[in-house]
Amino acid sequence: QDYILDVRNLKKYFQVGKGSILKAVDDISFHVKRGETYGLVGESGCGKSTIGRTILGLYDKTDGEVIFDLENVHELSEKDRFSFYRKMQMIFQDPYASLNPRSTIKEIISEPMEVHGLYSNKKERLKRVHELLEEVGLNKDHANRYPHEFSGGQRQRIGIARALALDPEFIIADEPISALDVSVQAQVVNLMKRLQQEKGLTFLFIAHDLSMVKQFSDRIGVMYLGNMVEETQSEHLYDNPLHPYTKALLSAIPIPDPDIEDQRERIILEGELPSPIHPPSGCVFRTRCPMAMEVCAKDRPVWQEAEEGHYVACHLYDKSKENSPHTGPQLK
Ligand code: SF4
Ligand code: MG
Repeated sequence: QDYILDVRNLKKYFQVGKGSILKAVDDISFHVKRGETYGLVGESGCGKSTIGRTILGLYDKTDGEVIFDLENVHELSEKDRFSFYRKMQMIFQDPYASLNPRSTIKEIISEPMEVHGLYSNKKERLKRVHELLEEVGLNKDHANRYPHEFSGGQRQRIGIARALALDPEFIIADEPISALDVSVQAQVVNLMKRLQQEKGLTFLFIAHDLSMVKQFSDRIGVMYLGNMVEETQSEHLYDNPLHPYTKALLSAIPIPDPDIEDQRERIILEGELPSPIHPPSGCVFRTRCPMAMEVCAKDRPVWQEAEEGHYVACHLYDKSKENSPHTGPQLK
């Protein structure tokens, strides 16, 4: 198996206030194959951005391992970390906040190349800036303008051009389309898809909404309150969700075709997202789960393969428990 990224039992806890611990990421494992897009989905505050930042080494880990290209990200020497950033780049939700308003687009895109000593002179770098602008659907006339002169979608294209400047292999896209108009979202997704095909890029695509990742993800992981609750092939997840949380998220997505009558049962989640400082005992989802049982308050469900390539953490599918209905209609 050619995994470019392997996240093993990753934990990221933050100390908050006096003696309280926020378990932003609590023992999560997943891997990303070279050339695929892995969609990481969950409500805001579930820890998905923290995972992105911890993978990138912007946060130290609390426990576990992040292996990228066979190297342990949190054990890289300073020099190796520098070259690691050539391979892994990030695109942010709000490109405007990450683009210096006083710099021209040319300066913004060429900065990473300067820092990493790419291209021997200014003229070559400028040529590369022009190429990058064209690759993201802008043009060289944009090079001397400033960020505020662009629309949200164009700024995201600039953010993507900057991420591509170092010719990375892996891009963490943290809610790259959430702040954009719906009409522009598809354009940016299509751009990322095209770049992936042309350059063989691998994406970790973080989003808060399952409808956003469907078109672009090969596999999807669903997070809830610092835990991974389900993971499988993208299409399979939409057709055959197992975890009650995934089912609720999917039931909230309207069917796009007005001619098809929506006969699905809408699952409304009761209550608020609990604080990750005081997560529920046992299964973190139990306070909002319509299927919760006694055991759910007691034991944390184990992350296990319910069927080939389909992982879930839920007592309903726990094969080690005799009275588990895992042979029920949900599973083949
Ligand atoms: Fe619901 Fe229990 Fe499954 Fe958690 S373990 S999702 S509470 S049924
Ligand atoms: Mg976030």
